[in-house]
Amino acid sequence: MAYQVLARKWRPKNFSEMAGQTHVLQTLIHALENQRLHHAYLFTGTRGVGKTTVARILARCLNCEKGITATPCGTCDACREISEGRFIDLIEVDAASRTKVEDTRELLENVQYAPARGRFKVYLIDEVHMLSSHSFNALLKTLEEPPAHVKFLLATTDPQKLPVTVLSRCLQFHLKNLSPAQIVAYLQSVLIAEQIEFEEDALWQLARAAAGSMRDALTLLDQSISFGAGRVESVSVASLLGTPDFTLIFLLIEALAGRDGHEIVRLLGLAAENNPDYQRLLEHMLSVFYRMTLAQMLPDAVDNSEGDRDRVIALAGRLSPEDVQLYYQICLQALQELTISPNRKISFDMGLLRMLAFSPDVFMAGSTAGEKKKPELSDSDRSSDQIDVPVSDDSQALDNLTVDLTSTLETTVPDLVAESVEQIEITENNVPEDIDWYTLVSRCNLTGISGNILWNCVPVVATVAHYALVLDENQSALFSPDHPAMIATALSEYFGRDVKVDISIGQISMETPATRRRREKAEVMQALHKRFYEDHGVMALVAAFDATIDPESFTVKN
Ligand SMILES: [Zn+2]
Repeated sequence: MAYQVLARKWRPKNFSEMAGQTHVLQTLIHALENQRLHHAYLFTGTRGVGKTTVARILARCLNCEKGITATPCGTCDACREISEGRFIDLIEVDAASRTKVEDTRELLENVQYAPARGRFKVYLIDEVHMLSSHSFNALLKTLEEPPAHVKFLLATTDPQKLPVTVLSRCLQFHLKNLSPAQIVAYLQSVLIAEQIEFEEDALWQLARAAAGSMRDALTLLDQSISFGAGRVESVSVASLLGTPDFTLIFLLIEALAGRDGHEIVRLLGLAAENNPDYQRLLEHMLSVFYRMTLAQMLPDAVDNSEGDRDRVIALAGRLSPEDVQLYYQICLQALQELTISPNRKISFDMGLLRMLAFSPDVFMAGSTAGEKKKPELSDSDRSSDQIDVPVSDDSQALDNLTVDLTSTLETTVPDLVAESVEQIEITENNVPEDIDWYTLVSRCNLTGISGNILWNCVPVVATVAHYALVLDENQSALFSPDHPAMIATALSEYFGRDVKVDISIGQISMETPATRRRREKAEVMQALHKRFYEDHGVMALVAAFDATIDPESFTVKN
């Protein structure tokens, strides 16, 4: 038996087999069941969404020998002949090839005669907008006074080109583009029935390429089957479609989340072997960061239209919201640089290395003793619409993106660079003696009331063995005589030697560590507001969801 292309073999023969278009089908089914039939139907929509398929099914519904029905039997002569394209009372015309007025006249000449076999004489005119104005006039005359035994089923991709006089005499149905999920589900059912092995990821690639057209999807599926020697696999489909392998993007973001510089460099090398389309890779990466942000703010809003919902949500849980925002910005910048860069690979690689270099904890580790911890994203954080941003030096990161490739590599994957870079390890035991009071207080990690007392003190004497402190009188209510000894213990542990501490209570005109922390928090909050309101990603979210931003919901983590 000759091979039949899938698009033809799997053309639905009744409404229940169709993918999507339920809004159209329900109306038609309701009309058929209630015998409320119109004499002219117009089906609109882009190519391959099922316009002529719906029209052919409707022709069967009208002519099935078992009676007018929404569920034609499929076995009577009329049903079978219609699906085989040889039913004498279904007159199919492709207007794209018959546009002359004579053609239409000839076509409509026999309209007055009763159908030869069926209940109705059905005229199916595809691409009806291609008819000439004379042809439209000939058609219009019939539409104005249609004989009871005639039905017109018109289909077009371009209803705007139809005269209003024709439009107004038709019952119009708009068929929507099929979503990737609808296409994947249909392709899956076809492949399972055909007993052909497949990888789901490959089907999502085909669905994206088909851009809403089921016919294109089935045609591409046909090609993939022969290209992949009977199997539909992700790699061969990517190569057939000429699309970059987007799984690379996920692998790169996973490596970023794991702060794995070696893996990133390895993946970049691997990617370069295929001379990929770097622009499309960056564009896809942007869309993944966007979906990750969505997952962090509104997990329910992440659909599976790209077939990667679970992966996006899993990754969103591994990175903090500020990481994702920063990566989005860096990715956008890399995309802009791509157009002016003489070497697209370097632009792409630089983007990834910057993301690694400016990840808040990597950045902090490279610049201080590394005690800053990556902020944990708790469940309550994720479900509320708060955006937590740590108080840290990484607010500088966005302003400091001009780093050359070598220095970026030095920060991120030092052992990959040429000559060795001298590493100075700062530990608690060799912190410089002239450390400033604020830094000392914050590194002491003293909590509770004694910690609070310390944060509200300023030193008047600071020697190797003795600190004389003044406690802000406004904060002295909870002070007890035990506190100097507790603070002395903390400072002694920090310096690794005995330190004596005296505390007196007094009026303080200078900034205490506590007031400085409040001031810096307020400044960070102000900068955060500015960054947030100027952020393209945030504004896109606001526009997409018609959202409003509640500035009161911003919080800053310590
Ligand atoms: Zn039938």
